Amino acid sequence: LVVLSDVNKHFGELHVLQDINLTVHRGEVVVVIGPSGSGKSTLCRAINRLEPIDSGTITLDGQPLPAEGKALARLRADVGMVFQAFNLFAHKTILENVTLGPIKVKRMKTAAAKQRAMELLERVGVANQADKLPAQLSGGQQQRVAIARALAMQPKVLLFDEPTSALDPEMVNEVLDTMVALAKEGMTMVVVTHEMGFARKAADRVVFMADGQIVEEAEPEKFFTDPQSHRAQDFLGKIL
Ligand code: ATP
Ligand code: MG
Repeated sequence: LVVLSDVNKHFGELHVLQDINLTVHRGEVVVVIGPSGSGKSTLCRAINRLEPIDSGTITLDGQPLPAEGKALARLRADVGMVFQAFNLFAHKTILENVTLGPIKVKRMKTAAAKQRAMELLERVGVANQADKLPAQLSGGQQQRVAIARALAMQPKVLLFDEPTSALDPEMVNEVLDTMVALAKEGMTMVVVTHEMGFARKAADRVVFMADGQIVEEAEPEKFFTDPQSHRAQDFLGKIL
């Protein structure tokens, strides 16, 4: 579904993505882990074209990523993204946060958008908060709204960049549980996270990045019990 071929990206002298080759199949959950600064966020942003690449290709459903215009807006609708900071519109209600994209970008009728948004808010367990403003919700609730908002665009793939790392510990699981449920329903997901429990439970594949390169790829059980590279062994030694 998403194919990156020989992708390279520099920030000045820094070679932040080095010959990245990665294929994410439909329905697959890929967890990306690696030390701080290894290029995980840049990788996510490249897939969403928030970050231009210097060379290589990225395709979605066999189509190259469009650079601009309407085609880019469509791509953004197809590639949902959930960030570390919840990024909800502060002055709009929870319901409006979820209906805005479908109404503006997908030209959905307001009534239909509202009905669908309520179903999604129900699904992530915050339907009773629909009329509140983001600041009136807990971090975990806000992040679940962010997931509902991404789902409202009916994306082909959802990217998560450390979706739980800004949360108080007691709220981490409610967000991870929502993500595990999505994974079980067959959503295609790329998840940058240090939550090894999530990786074990939901990932089909773990991709380990270091210094802008994909150093190792394996099924979670294999990766966590028997990492092949020194970098991965070293990293797991520090976080487990
Ligand atoms: P973390 O785990 O801390 O989130 P990461 O793996 O997501 O790290 P990136 O955010 O992708 O890492 O950053 C990779 C490298 O690129 C870092 O050294 C970072 O300082 C650098 N970098 C990221 N964004 C920019 C930018 N806009 N301009 C210059 N350098 C950048
Ligand atoms: Mg990052």
